[in-house]
Amino acid sequence: MTKILILGGGYAGFYTAKKLEKHLRSGEAEVTIVDPLPYMTYLPFLPEVAASQIEARHVVVSHRRHLKKTSFVQGKVTAISAADKKVTVVPVTGGDSFDIEYDELVVTLGSVSRTFPIPGVADNAIGLKSVEEATAIRDRLIDNFNKAAGLPAGPERARLLTVIVVGGGFAGIEVFAELRSFATSLLKYYPEIDFNEVQFHLVEAMGNIMPEVSHETSLWVLKNLSERNATVHLWTQLADATGGHCVLKKIHKDKEGNLVEPEETHEFDSDIIIWTAGVMANPVLKASDLPLEPRGRLRLRADLRVEGDDGVVEHVWGAGDATQVPDLSGSGLPFDGSCVPNAQHAVRQAKRLAKNIVASLRGEQPRDYLHKPQGAVAGLGPGRGVYTNGKKKFAIKGWVAWVMHRGYHGLAMPMWERKWRVVGDWLGEAFLHRDIVTLEKVQEPRAFFEEFASRPKPPADKK
Ligand SMILES: Cc1cc2nc3c(=O)[nH]c(=O)nc-3n(C[C@H](O)[C@H](O)[C@H](O)COP(=O)(O)OP(=O)(O)OC[C@H]3O[C@@H](n4cnc5c(N)ncnc54)[C@H](O)[C@@H]3O)c2cc1C
Repeated sequence: MTKILILGGGYAGFYTAKKLEKHLRSGEAEVTIVDPLPYMTYLPFLPEVAASQIEARHVVVSHRRHLKKTSFVQGKVTAISAADKKVTVVPVTGGDSFDIEYDELVVTLGSVSRTFPIPGVADNAIGLKSVEEATAIRDRLIDNFNKAAGLPAGPERARLLTVIVVGGGFAGIEVFAELRSFATSLLKYYPEIDFNEVQFHLVEAMGNIMPEVSHETSLWVLKNLSERNATVHLWTQLADATGGHCVLKKIHKDKEGNLVEPEETHEFDSDIIIWTAGVMANPVLKASDLPLEPRGRLRLRADLRVEGDDGVVEHVWGAGDATQVPDLSGSGLPFDGSCVPNAQHAVRQAKRLAKNIVASLRGEQPRDYLHKPQGAVAGLGPGRGVYTNGKKKFAIKGWVAWVMHRGYHGLAMPMWERKWRVVGDWLGEAFLHRDIVTLEKVQEPRAFFEEFASRPKPPADKK
């Protein structure tokens, strides 16, 4: 039987497997996914997980439960050899790496947070690319309220109550706005803490936020945030975050438009530094003999086959954030016209990819991927949202857009079993309010037992 091997079971990998299960005839091919995680994560819900609006486990979809005809290898891909048609994997349980051979390879390894060598960022900041990070942010904010409530006014209390988000793209603005709403909603349980003590800073190196929406809409978002005591620093860089001490620098341009040496504008301590300033293709692709473009993405044709300098690399396909797919609708990235790395494309590419693989197994021609962007919706906290259509000519703001955001993502969440859990969380939150409990001690669960456990007496000293 033909062996189809999918690397990465996130958005694109999960949907490719799901659609292959649907389109393949019995006995036509066997499908295997390699991923260190046993689930795919619905990333657009991470800001709502961080803001305790959705329970963390409800935004992930179990591979084994929902891909019944697919096999799984829980491990990390460390190398890919198209020449030998094999992939090297390290199991998550540790131990020696092993090779898996394939007939058809699907590369859907996604992206990772893209950072710059700013002092202190690698040691103190946290990303927002996994449900684990979103959960840790939620717990840290609640724990910091607990700690700050027992402290006198001073630098430590201010540090605990200061949040900074770096990056004013969609993910950054959504988590910033959602956390601001969450922090405000926490205040009613913490009479010791004043609204003005909780400081929120967002740092964006460019002169505007959310490039996916129209300029007018982004201005509305900025105004809305400033009314909620959330400060957005445009044309500003985080220059240092050593020990959690954040130094912001304003970027200036001279009359000719050249950058002049930035000057310090602001300094403060923060215990929650969230990094959302862009993504880059999974660096593991560099450990392969596959053709990559200068930014490290896998080079694809519009039919989702890999293309090198000498033409198609046979039997290797790709989709999602890890790849450079030409956007035939003309709405691609300004620098190379390729598809924007988002879920809209990842899901649709995966569906086309599954059909193309099946077609090629049956000796038919694969078809090109074409999708016209349908616009963007963002949630900015309960009752607040924005929607812009694909051409950025039409926008809706406020409560209606927030309902559209929930409606769209509620339906886009894969699997009805998962949709119901998310909708259940939203209903629970509407009637019972957000859950503000953290199970901090789960990190050291044996401590309860160990504290009182009897131990054998040490052997008596022999004289
Ligand atoms: C906070 C946030 C909000 C977002 N909101 C939106 C939105 O509202 N709308 C929208 O369209 N897009 C949104 N996106 C973008 C969207 O989620 C991504 O574009 C999409 O997830 C890309 O899918 P993918 O399959 O390429 O990557 P992923 O979904 O990231 O999947 C990659 C998979 O590869 C696995 N993997 C990684 N390394 C290895 C390895 N070495 N070996 C094996 N497996 C590996 C990972 O575990 C993961 O399962 C958002 C992203 C974020 C972070």
